[in-house]
Amino acid sequence: MTALCAAAALIGGISAGAVAADAPAPAPKLVVLVSVDQFSADLFQHYRSHFTGGLRRLTEGAVFPNGYQSHAATETCPGHSTLMTGDRPTRTGIIANDWYSFKGPRPGKIYCAEDESKGSYKEYVPSDVHLKVPTLGERMKAADADVRTISVAGKDRAAIMMGGHAVDELWFWKDGQGFVSYAGRTPPAAVAAVNEAAQAELAKPAKAYEEPEWCRAIDMPVAVEREKDIMTVGNGRFARQPGPTAEAQWKASPAFDATIIDLAVRLIKDMKLGHGKSIDVLTVGASATDYIGHTYGTEGSEMCIQVANLDRTLGKLVAALDATGVDYVLALSADHGGNDIPEREQLRGMPMAARVESTLLPENIGQKVAPAGIAGADLLLGGTNGDVWVGPVVAGTWRQKVLAETLPLYRADPQVAAVYTAAEVAAAPIPTGAPETWTLLDRARASYDADRSGDLIVFLKPRIMSIAAKPRSYIATHGSPWDYDRRVPILFWRKGLTGFEQPLSVETIDIMPTLAAQVGFKLAPGDVDGRCLDLDGGPGDTCAAAAAK
Ligand SMILES: [Zn+2]
Repeated sequence: MTALCAAAALIGGISAGAVAADAPAPAPKLVVLVSVDQFSADLFQHYRSHFTGGLRRLTEGAVFPNGYQSHAATETCPGHSTLMTGDRPTRTGIIANDWYSFKGPRPGKIYCAEDESKGSYKEYVPSDVHLKVPTLGERMKAADADVRTISVAGKDRAAIMMGGHAVDELWFWKDGQGFVSYAGRTPPAAVAAVNEAAQAELAKPAKAYEEPEWCRAIDMPVAVEREKDIMTVGNGRFARQPGPTAEAQWKASPAFDATIIDLAVRLIKDMKLGHGKSIDVLTVGASATDYIGHTYGTEGSEMCIQVANLDRTLGKLVAALDATGVDYVLALSADHGGNDIPEREQLRGMPMAARVESTLLPENIGQKVAPAGIAGADLLLGGTNGDVWVGPVVAGTWRQKVLAETLPLYRADPQVAAVYTAAEVAAAPIPTGAPETWTLLDRARASYDADRSGDLIVFLKPRIMSIAAKPRSYIATHGSPWDYDRRVPILFWRKGLTGFEQPLSVETIDIMPTLAAQVGFKLAPGDVDGRCLDLDGGPGDTCAAAAAK
């Protein structure tokens, strides 16, 4: 840096600080965060040159193409728990979609967004009780009762983890019912109207979506052998007939996001968001990308058509926000990334891509070490990747013996990258620094909760799909500690913001303090794990402005 440049930078810094202290920019009246479930950084990069709608608008703002859900358990519930809290799962307590607990009111499997004291795992009661930290909306509401918080999503766990413990409106899709909320909440007119429209849509056949010309190159059938059939994916266009499977097909199609965004748009209008006594906070969970990824994989015509329609659908949301006439800040990110089916990866330059061997299912490992008379499925619980719990069928020293015998079995397996005991993870320091440099143990530590995490944490090698061959339904999934599942775009847009692109890594926990700074909500040092991102690409500092208050 030349002396002249340094002087200019210094003056810039001083003057921006002075402006912030004397006359802070007015806070936006409306804060909106959209989470696109399974919208990986790879999908964003693959298709961004084609965006013309809502995603195009967001790419004109502050673009962080290399955001990280930095923890290991890259699932929906933990991912959503980071977005509006600013905290990693080790602090939010949301370590996975499901975990096992044998101490609480209902020993066994627990869903992240339920109150297990009130229901069964199958007939669960949606709840925020497991989220250990407040969301931004909730913090703002505690300081100012006129702040309104609204959370809408295709999945209950997305709506609940982004909305937090104090929500004015909270609506999520329930199969066979439509958008529902906690018991006792009266649906506003918008919910009733959207539910009625969705039921009418499901009762009719749906035509195939038009395929954008730029999807044709990847439109190619790939056969995937499932338990009871051979499924052809890669060339689908979401045509649908009414019937018992219509709702599942509809959820794994662009139509589901259209319905979710329709509800958000109606609530924006009906509640006059942005025109309340104080600031309104709206969180929206667009879930279709995830269902499409699980059902068809991520690199076929289905996902291409989905991204094109998502862009269009988000355009309607942006138009509704523009129509409010108020200053709003819009952010978009994802709860986790995703990985394609190995069957197609093998055709496209990845011969080593594979499905996990069923020998790595916990019940099969468990059977090898189980004492006489104990079933493997009772001994080890969990999945092929991530947390594994030793069941309550063995106690005391037997537990240690089971762990001691299980560890070498995992370590000797050619598909396993690493396995840690809970004690090893607990003893590791909280990771810092650029998330792409974190060790696997660092990633596990960011997902760790002493009461909820497994007795073992197992990581499959990269490019090993954690769903074994001949799957019953879903053919692809996420959840690994590898970057295809960790990397997501983080985008911010606000009128007047000079756009810029920052390719260096940031984290999804940075979204909350960044939005807090936008609305001038002061966080004390250490309040959250994330840091404020300066959305002024020039010498001004949108973080300093909030800190000065
Ligand atoms: Zn998913």
